[in-house]
Amino acid sequence: MNPIVIVTGASRGIGAATAVLAARKGWRVVVNYAENKVAAESVAKKIQDAGGQAMVVQADVADEEQILRMFKEVDTHFGPIAGLVNNAGVVDVTATLQEMSWERIERMFRINVFGTFIATREALLRMSTKRGGQGGSIVNVSSVAARIGGGGQYIDYAASKGAIDTFTLGLSKEVAAEGVRVNAVRPGIIDTDIHASGGLPTRAKDLTPLIPMQRPGHADEVAQAIVWLLGKDSSYATGSFIDVAGGR
Ligand code: NAP
Repeated sequence: MNPIVIVTGASRGIGAATAVLAARKGWRVVVNYAENKVAAESVAKKIQDAGGQAMVVQADVADEEQILRMFKEVDTHFGPIAGLVNNAGVVDVTATLQEMSWERIERMFRINVFGTFIATREALLRMSTKRGGQGGSIVNVSSVAARIGGGGQYIDYAASKGAIDTFTLGLSKEVAAEGVRVNAVRPGIIDTDIHASGGLPTRAKDLTPLIPMQRPGHADEVAQAIVWLLGKDSSYATGSFIDVAGGR
């Protein structure tokens, strides 16, 4: 039986590309989304049309109850998981710290950080060999913003990704002896909808001069690194980071 992976935020962008590639590499894929059911179903259809298996599950990762429901649905209708890709993430409109509200910062951290912590906890409760699981692999989607800082644009986002980097390092050591590997990918500027959702639809193109390779990346290029870290080809890698950022 092919292993099961949950990809959060798999309806669009990097998550969708990861879901499709993971299915091509033999994973059964849980396509999670927050609001865009049509997009999530089209990702699942693409997987199924190519002979793979996919299950669509709505859950807002900012809400613990919804995360718990997602894992229960997967347990009941799909089977035991072997992988988790914490990809769901958001940016916000450009702002300095002096302009940021508590609500904005809270939303950022609930989705980008708390969601990753709680989904990962639920995955570990199922995968850890110390709890009778078969082990597994977790890949967190961070950002080069974690090391650049996002000053003048969105330090809340950058700091949330900094938290993901620290989480990845610490957790990789915490569960290394429990059969679970924890790694992260740090994308640079990738051409997806995320820039429009932060009010800057042409951001990927506009920032091209700052990218040493002189072009934004494609979601597929990030998916390649995620799926490599997820699978057995990277069996000795844990606490590792792959920057997919065109040299940025
Ligand atoms: P995107 O195109 O905006 O897609 C975001 C995905 O996340 C969608 O599937 C969306 O679902 C889902 N999502 C958003 N909020 C969610 C929530 N609360 N619960 C569950 N799912 C949620 O974004 P992307 O560019 O592919 O980004 C994916 C990841 O890569 C993020 O973590 C982002 O920070 C990171 N990243 C992106 C870039 C870049 O330049 N694109 C660079 C560095 C890092 P719906 O369709 O239902 O809304």
